[in-house]
This record gives sequence, structure tokens and C-alpha cells, in this order.
Amino acid sequence: MTPYLSIVVPVYNEEGNLDNLMGRLYPVLRGMGHPFEIIFTDDGSRDRSLEILKRLAGEYPEVRVIEFNGNFGQHMAIMAAFEISRGEIVITLDADLQNPPEEIPKLVAEMELGHDVVGSIRQNRQDSFFRKSASRLVNITTRKMTGMRMTDYGCMLRAYHRNVVDNINRCCEASTFIPALAQTFASSPSEVEVAHAERSEGESKYSLYKLVRLNFDLMTGFSVVPLQLFALTGIVTALGAVAFALFLMARRFVVGAEVEGIFTLFAILFFFIGVTIFGIGIVGEYVGRIYQEVRRRPRYVVRRVHGGSDEG
Ligand code: UDP
Ligand code: MG
Repeated sequence: MTPYLSIVVPVYNEEGNLDNLMGRLYPVLRGMGHPFEIIFTDDGSRDRSLEILKRLAGEYPEVRVIEFNGNFGQHMAIMAAFEISRGEIVITLDADLQNPPEEIPKLVAEMELGHDVVGSIRQNRQDSFFRKSASRLVNITTRKMTGMRMTDYGCMLRAYHRNVVDNINRCCEASTFIPALAQTFASSPSEVEVAHAERSEGESKYSLYKLVRLNFDLMTGFSVVPLQLFALTGIVTALGAVAFALFLMARRFVVGAEVEGIFTLFAILFFFIGVTIFGIGIVGEYVGRIYQEVRRRPRYVVRRVHGGSDEG
């Protein structure tokens, strides 16, 4: 029987959470009375996560586990699960219980009103102050740069209609940000408020570096505004330089030759060198990504799929 709901969970070193997650998720799904499937992607965990997942796949016929060859990141883990998902409605969920599984019926109800993507907004988000401020900044700049209307980009408890998932599956981009990608295919997106809990076990899998990389993916993947802003800065600087040159020329006539203020000049020069290097960096980000895309290497490598009919 083809499932109505597909639940997709990326897992990276979550050994302490998986049994709890399953214990809460399963009753919720049973209670909804539709056929469902749960797809876990083990994103190259180095703890006992895979072992636990394989056990779950053996215990529950609805569970399938994709085993990755290494760590390819949360979004690739979700991509891989999307590809084998069959449900009419596909729901993504974090493994750390920060998104309560009990909110799933709310998302499904909203989908059944005819929306094709239902996002979520975290009510009193339980993360560190630093993490929240970083997210706020990302949400604002992303909205400005991509022009997409989404309140909370980071919350992964989301529902997607089969059509949207099929479209996402047709994209072969190597670095991506799934909520934003889905938004580009959505014809009638909606959002609901969901509760948010503290991470129940373990710690965040996103280091500052990984977080910055992810936001570059979001920025470069969905907008060329950074390039345009940089070109604009260049134009403004050039105009400023012309004005300054005219001013210096006028002074030359009024005051005569002068050599003071050389360090001020250095300071200004260093500033612009900084801006230039920054600009080259932005261009480099895009060029690097273009290079990544044209090589067409596999985005992730699946070692095996456990459970379900794919068991070999
Ligand atoms: N995750 C993953 N691969 C990674 C990093 C994270 O599959 O390289 C999973 C992780 O196991 C969790 C989800 O993505 O289920 C969100 O990660 P996390 O809770 O660490 O992110 P945060 O809540 O701090 O944004
Ligand atoms: Mg989390």
C-alpha cells in the first residue's frame, strides 16, 4: 500500500535521541489513521546511531534507513530520503526532538486545506542567545536578498506535497537549502506556529563554521544579490574617488603642494583593499559552486538501504 505520509529524518550522531523519537513519533502517526512510512538517513554517524536505526528498521515495517557512505550534511540526507519517499505528503523532522512530533497533525491539517508547502515558525525558540541572534540576522538578510516570504528559514519541521518533492528531486544541485528550494516550487505556501523544545540529548551538529557554510549555500544558491551589491559598492567607490580627486586638485590650486596626511591615505587604501578581497571572495564562492556543479560528481553516496521492500 502506498503511504499517505512520509516522515523524513536526517540523523548524525543522535544515539541518545532515536528511541525517544520513535517512541513519540510512532503513536502520533498511528493515531492519524493513514498509511505512513518513516525514512531515516544515517549521515555517516560515528556513534551507535546506525545500529539503533537498523534495529528500528527490523522492528517496524514502516521504517526504512538509508545508510550514507560518509557525512554529506543535513540537506543531502533529506534529499536522499526524498528520492525514495512515496507519500502524498512528505514531512521533514529533526532527530533531536527539538521539533515535537505531536505537531505533525497540525501540519497535515494545514496541507489538507490545499497548501502545497507548510512551513513552521518556532514559538519561544529554545536555543542559545547567540544561535537565535544569528538566525534572526539570517532570516532578515535572506528575505531581503531572495525576496522569498518565509518567516523562519531554520525550522525544519515542514510539510511538502508530492508535486513539490518531485520537483525538488529533479534538481541536481550539489549544495542547497531545502526550505528555500521548496519555496521556489510552491504555488500556495503557508506557515503554522509550532512548539520548540531544547535539544533533548547530545549537542548541536552545527559548528559556527558549518553554520556559515550553510548560510553561504542559502545566499549563493538562491540569489545573485551579493554580486550586485558588490558591483554597486564598486560604482559608489569610483564616484567617491573622482569627487576626492577633484577636491584634491582644487586644494592644490588654493593651498599649494602638500604631503601630510599620508597615514590617513594608507588607512583609506587598506580599507579598500579589504573591500576588494571581500569581493573576490564573493566571486570565488560563486565560481567554486559553479565548478562543483559542472563536475557532476554524485552529491552523496548511499551504501545501503535497510528495511522495507528494498532490503537486499
Ligand atoms: N544533521 C545531519 N547531518 C549533519 C548535521 C546535522 O543529518 O551534518 C541532522 C541532525 O542529526 C539533526 C538535524 O540534522 O537531526 C539538525 O541538526 P542540529 O539539531 O544539530 O541543528 P540545530 O538544531 O542546532 O540547528
Ligand atoms: Mg537541533
